[in-house]
Amino acid sequence: MTLSISSAFDGGNIRVVSIDGARIDLEIVKDKNSDFYQWFSFRLTGGEGQKLELRILNCAGSAYPHGWENYRACMSLDREEWERVDTSYEGGVLTISVTPPSDSVWFAYFAPYTMERHHELIAAFASYPGIAYRSLGQTLDGQELDYLELGGGPLQVWLYARQHPGETMAEWWMEGAIERLLDESDPVIRRLREAATFHIVPNMNPDGSRRGHLRTNAAGVNLNREWHAPTPEKSPEVFLVRAEMDKTGVDFAMDIHGDEAIAANFLAGFEGIPSHRAEQQAVFDAFSKALVRVTPDFQTAKGYEVPPPGKANLSMSTAQLAERFAAVSMTLEMPFKDNEDLPDPLHGWSPERCRLLARACLDALHAVLPDLRAYRGK
Ligand code: ZN
Repeated sequence: MTLSISSAFDGGNIRVVSIDGARIDLEIVKDKNSDFYQWFSFRLTGGEGQKLELRILNCAGSAYPHGWENYRACMSLDREEWERVDTSYEGGVLTISVTPPSDSVWFAYFAPYTMERHHELIAAFASYPGIAYRSLGQTLDGQELDYLELGGGPLQVWLYARQHPGETMAEWWMEGAIERLLDESDPVIRRLREAATFHIVPNMNPDGSRRGHLRTNAAGVNLNREWHAPTPEKSPEVFLVRAEMDKTGVDFAMDIHGDEAIAANFLAGFEGIPSHRAEQQAVFDAFSKALVRVTPDFQTAKGYEVPPPGKANLSMSTAQLAERFAAVSMTLEMPFKDNEDLPDPLHGWSPERCRLLARACLDALHAVLPDLRAYRGK
């Protein structure tokens, strides 16, 4: 069996430059109509027992070159468990050194969350008692933009993920959040569902997800730069979700992402918005503190620089929702690498830990319900 590389599947991304003995040279393909690239997902066949070097040559020009430092690629035999493998980065080339234990193995930037798995998630949960399913409309590629609603309380809580499709950890987080929200024997969930109505968009960017994009939709548009003025032509995903938010209002919102460079979980808020309110910030800070207390996978020392007053980027959803609705809104960033304060040498940051972090976020939301209710008068 000869060595072969393929990526013609749901969420796949790689281009073969050459295969020369045990050395396989590869390149990541840019998002359509865009210069962004960093997500890769491919299959290697015919390599069992051979000591191979897989080199991704164009990493220096990727969206976040610092993301490759101290990064280890993910490999799977069964597409369920993803283990980290020996990876090094030098001179703009990422080298994965591996002896495949099977003639059929998969590699990816992070455990993939395919559109097929997304359909299984929706199929499993849409028919659940107490949950309402709706399509908010169609994407440019003609996929449904799936929306779930549950709970019945006056607070309007929005959870949405994967505006950036290559950040697959975001949908693993969603799986954990939805699973827990459906457990009506869980006392925290009973209280949350009395207090709030949950509006959930598990995948904001189905087209980018299926196309194997890092950051954009089918038109090559970065959805998290469209929230001030979305259009049906360029950014229907944001256009549809924001219109629904205008109907329901938003009291609390979490936008779920992954960060290429920083080896930690962290939140980004809305400090720079024009209408910034001390009471609004206080609920955000209380949530952040509560999350630190409930999980060692969350911290506040590492993160993005806070924009100065009045300098928020209102094209990003967190700032737009905080300004538009006076909501307590936030961007949750999870690592592609690992939580370096509590590393897992075998898996790195993983789907299981994304799911657990989602559960912890619901505990933190429960902890700040009195603050959120007082702030919103609900
Ligand atoms: Zn992102």
